[in-house]
This record gives sequence, C-alpha cells and structure tokens, in this order.
Amino acid sequence: MHKKLEQQLRTLFGSLDAIPPACLPMVDIVSKTYQDVDDDRVLLERSLEIMSRDIVEKYQDLQAEIILIRKRTKELEDTKSAMLNVLEDEQQAKQRLKNSELRFRTLFESSQDAIMTLEPPTWAFTSGNPAALKMFLAKDQSDFVSAEPWKLSPERQPDGTSSADKAKQMIESALHDGSKYFEWTHRRLNGEDFVVTVLLTRVDLGGEIFLQATVRDITESKKVNERVKELDTLRAKFISIVSHQLRTPLNVIRWNLEELLSLQLGTLAVAQREFLRITYDANLEVINRIHDLLTAMDIEEGRMTLTREETSLESLWNSVMADWKRACDVKELACAYRSPKTPLPGMSVDADKIRLVFTKLMENAVSYTPNKGKVKAEMTQVDGRIRFEISDTGIGIPKVEQGRIFTQFYRASNASTMKPDASGLGLSIAKFFVELHDGKIGFTSVEGKGSTFWFELPIS
Ligand code: ADP
Repeated sequence: MHKKLEQQLRTLFGSLDAIPPACLPMVDIVSKTYQDVDDDRVLLERSLEIMSRDIVEKYQDLQAEIILIRKRTKELEDTKSAMLNVLEDEQQAKQRLKNSELRFRTLFESSQDAIMTLEPPTWAFTSGNPAALKMFLAKDQSDFVSAEPWKLSPERQPDGTSSADKAKQMIESALHDGSKYFEWTHRRLNGEDFVVTVLLTRVDLGGEIFLQATVRDITESKKVNERVKELDTLRAKFISIVSHQLRTPLNVIRWNLEELLSLQLGTLAVAQREFLRITYDANLEVINRIHDLLTAMDIEEGRMTLTREETSLESLWNSVMADWKRACDVKELACAYRSPKTPLPGMSVDADKIRLVFTKLMENAVSYTPNKGKVKAEMTQVDGRIRFEISDTGIGIPKVEQGRIFTQFYRASNASTMKPDASGLGLSIAKFFVELHDGKIGFTSVEGKGSTFWFELPIS
C-alpha cells in the first residue's frame, strides 16, 4: 500500500485492521492511483531535470555564441574603422597629390624663368610655360612646340661653334651628369637674338627620360655687368693715374725736406726744424698711403710677382728696427727684440715685400699701443720655418671682429680713436705677400689687453 495513504488511513481508522472490508477494493484503487501519481511525478521530475539541464546547456551555448558574435562584431568594427582610415588616408594622399600638382603647375605657369621640356629622339621642345612662350614671342603652346629647334637659336653661338653641334654636346652632358648649366644665345620667333643661361636637368619619370630646361634671359644683367666692369677699369685707371701723378711731386717734396732737415743748406731754428719734421712725417704718410693703394690695385689685378733674392730675414728686420726704435721713443714705449738663439739660415725671398710685412706689423703694434706700453718682437726657427712675432700691450681687437681683420679696408671699431686716418690696407697686403711666399700669417688678441701678430715662412 502507498505509504502516504497508509498514514492517512491509520489517522482516519486508528489501524489498518479497522478499515471496513467494503472499503478495501477502494483503498486498493486509491493506493494504485497514489502510486501512479508518484510514478508520474518522478517521471515528470526526471524529464524536468533533463529539460532544465538541456536549457542550461543551451543557455551556455547561447552565451558562448553571444560572446563569439560580440567578438566578431568588434573585429568587424575594427576592420571597418581600419578600412575607413585607409580610405581617409588615401583621400588625403589624393588631395595632397592634387595640391602639390596644383602647386607645381602654378609654379610652372607663373615662373618668371622660362621652363621647357625636351624629349627624345629629336630633343625638340615639347612644352613651355607662359614665360617661355613670352620669351620666344610664340602665340601659344602649339606655335611654340611646332617651331623647328634651329629656328630658336642662331646658326652659330658666339664662340663660333654651330648651335646644333653645341646643343647636342650640352644635351649629352646633361643626360650623362644629371644636369648642365651654360650660357646660350637663343633666337626669338621674330629673329631677334638674346643671351640666356640654361640649366638642363635630366628627369626620369618612371623610366621615361626627358630634359627640363630652365632658361633665364640675362641680356640686361650682362649689359649691367659689362658696364660695372667698364666702370671698375675706369676707377682703377683713375686711381692709378692720380696716384702715380701724386707720387712724383710728393717725392720731390720729401727730398727737399730731407735736404733742409739735413742742415746742408744752412742752419734752422728749433721751431723751424720741428715744423719741417711734422711736414716731413705727414708727407711720408701720404706717400706710404699711395704706395699701399697702388700695391692693393696691383694685387687685385694680378700684377704682383716675386723677385726672390738670397737674404736673411734678420737683416730685413734689422733694416726696420731703426724706425721701430724711433717710433717707440716718440710714444715712450718699452720695445725689445729677442734674436734667435742660433743663427738663422739664409732664405730666398722678395726682400722688399717681406720688409714691408715687417714694417706693417711693427707700425700697427706701435700705433695701437697707448703711450708707455710695451712692444716686443722675436724671431725663431721652428720645424723648417722661420717665425716672426710681435706682441704689444695695446688696445687689442674685439673678438667678434677678429675674423675680418685681414680684409681690405677693414678697421676694428676701437681702432680709429688710436689712429683716426688709417686705410685698413696694411694687413691685407701683408697677408698676400706672406702667402705668395707659401707662408702663413695670423694673430691672437684680447681686447683691452694686447695682440700678438705673427708670420712664418718655409725655409726651403
Ligand atoms: P690700418 O692702416 O688701419 O692699421 P691694417 O690693415 O694694418 O690697417 O690693420 C687693420 C686693422 O686691424 C686696424 O685698423 C686695427 O683695427 C687692427 N689692428 C691691426 N694691428 C693691430 C694691433 N697690433 N693691435 C690692435 N689692432 C690692430
């Protein structure tokens, strides 16, 4: 009997034996029904359990699928945005290309220089910018490119070579070296010749080779250059004539003053002698200036050559020392010369020029040193060279100006108070002369403290 029913019957009847016999078939049926219900419930529970397990599995599968789908969606979104980026980059690149094309086209169109292309096999002009059309007086592009190349240049160039041959040479050279720059005489379509500079450049456009010519009309600048050259020659001639013509009378004055000062023409009062001495010094200064000016012009025009003779540098310096001592006395400068420890070998130099170098360095040391300062000179032999140096306790040269001190006419900003009317030519001449002897010249200087100027000449 079903347990639950049994319990209920016990509760109801006190014991199972108390169940009326008439009810027993009923009890059997109910017990069976109970049993059936139980069986059904177990079955139901089992199938429910199976179903829920199934659902859980399905749910988990679904979850996994959702995760996968999310992952794929993310991947697709990334791919999409990457593709969009690529597209955007491509668009930007296209825009940039368009802009740069536009820029180059504008450059080409608006360039003041004529720009043309020349293409094989004939190397005739195949295009030209507006400046090229204007330069050659062509009506339009087709008028320009249809003109036979020989029509755009005279038959011969100014050096006599045929334009056709020379053009071939220039083209070959540009193709070989990548570019070629040269002067050329062109001819406009109305037959007028004009001078230009041409820069031929080889262009390789993905294996397709052509030439680009940048042509600049230099007719005007050539005229200006020629005029400048003419004026330069005229200026040089003028300076040279004036200087030469001044030199003779100035030397006459000098000789006469020397004669008077030597007292051979009679005695002079002290004041008279002093005046004559001042006049003599001033006259000498002018003669030296003119000499410097003529020397600078000779250097500029390449007229300077060396006349070497066997001599010793010490003897040349000795011939300057008397003037040095005198100049030092006037300014009460302590001057000292230290001669070399061992005798120096003789040298083959242009004596006048090297003496002038000594003079210039000595005069500067004295001029740019305030009264009562010190100037000392020294000559030594170092590794196959003879070195002369002269040091002073003078005004020195400002650091920022030191790089320009050997430039013609350059004077440092602190120099004019010490020597108001100097020319700034001496050091440039000295440098030229030293270098003409394969020597070197230089200096060290500290503003307000002093300078040391030196030069070295090779012994052999
Ligand atoms: P300048 O006739 O003016 O002396 P230089 O060519 O001999 O011409 O010298 C150029 C300049 O170099 C001078 O004007 C001066 O500024 C500077 N200079 C040359 N020597 C000295 C020196 N010993 N001390 C200071 N400055 C010097």
